[in-house]
Amino acid sequence: MKTLAEILEGHTREGELYEPIDKGRIRCYACGHACPIPDGAAGVCKVRFNRGGRLYVPWGYVGGVQCDPIEKKPFFHAYPGALAYSFGMLGCDLHCAYCQNWVTSQALRDPQAVAPPLVMEPDELVRDATRLGARLVVSTYNEPLITSEWAVAVFREARAAGLATAFVSNGNGTPRVLEYLRPWIDLYKVDLKSFDDRHYRQLGGRLQPILDTIRTLHAMDIWVEIVTLLIPGFNDSDDEVARLTEFIASVSPDIPWHVTAYHEDYRMTSNGNTTPAMLLRAADIGRRAGLHFVYAGNLPGLVGDLESTVCPGCGTPLVERDGYLIRAYRITPDGRCPSCHASVPGRWSRQFDGQITTRPFAPGARVRLSAV
Ligand code: SF4
Repeated sequence: MKTLAEILEGHTREGELYEPIDKGRIRCYACGHACPIPDGAAGVCKVRFNRGGRLYVPWGYVGGVQCDPIEKKPFFHAYPGALAYSFGMLGCDLHCAYCQNWVTSQALRDPQAVAPPLVMEPDELVRDATRLGARLVVSTYNEPLITSEWAVAVFREARAAGLATAFVSNGNGTPRVLEYLRPWIDLYKVDLKSFDDRHYRQLGGRLQPILDTIRTLHAMDIWVEIVTLLIPGFNDSDDEVARLTEFIASVSPDIPWHVTAYHEDYRMTSNGNTTPAMLLRAADIGRRAGLHFVYAGNLPGLVGDLESTVCPGCGTPLVERDGYLIRAYRITPDGRCPSCHASVPGRWSRQFDGQITTRPFAPGARVRLSAV
């Protein structure tokens, strides 16, 4: 019987994000590791490998597909209520002990992580997304940067079908991969896991490439939202939260910051879960850092108005949420506050078109909610 690695090796094609170094070695630029890879070896992510001086990359499969409310990604300032057709492949460039998608992200590192791939082509994915009423397609569940060539192939089809495109990513990018993605990507969620380089090294990365990615994406006018999973005893000190949110505000105070509750998972099972009080304290620090849009996630109904979008100028509620459910939508067709007419940063439809779902579902079992 073939191993998962052997099966995946059959689902590859030559990549575009690399160049030769010397003696058959090549350098991959798909993520911040920028691995030098000798002939016959794979990079840190284990899914991109050098065969005969050429880089082979994942192609023609998905590790999973799911229809999510866009609020789950989370994007709160892009097409509220939209259906986000979400796909992932396998593998990751980091190895976070608390990963909540470890079955797909660690599929080639951890023998317990068994996620058989489904053979798919880009046009099939997009046809399915369109059939289900999706507004966008999203590369997520594993780290999308390491499968950027596949994502671009899907995004080309998606754009042709009138859909928006997005990454849900750890942000460990390079200038080269961001330039490669730039023509094809509309929205980018970065998981800013910490503001301490020592913490990032525990997860298998470095802080600086993530900060550089956030600055570059914003300068490219790609819509960015940032998430920090608040983990007790790991990244939740007042000092670290203050430095992290001051950094975001220095890029732009209009970048939404989602501080979300952690629950014990995978190999991190002794820190205790995040409480509502911890989220509220971190959110307060973020607001004092100057951020205009701070949200608290993963504890619906327990965080006051921190699930809703409020005009930072006049305090008018603009989008009221209960978990992923949109309860009220008041942004004007030209993307402004209806009271003070301030422009609301984000990517908005002309109108709220109702919400297809408030909870994830597998394609094939469609659930359409009536407009709320
Ligand atoms: S995607 Fe990142 S980890 Fe994988 S081979 Fe390329 S540089 Fe290395």
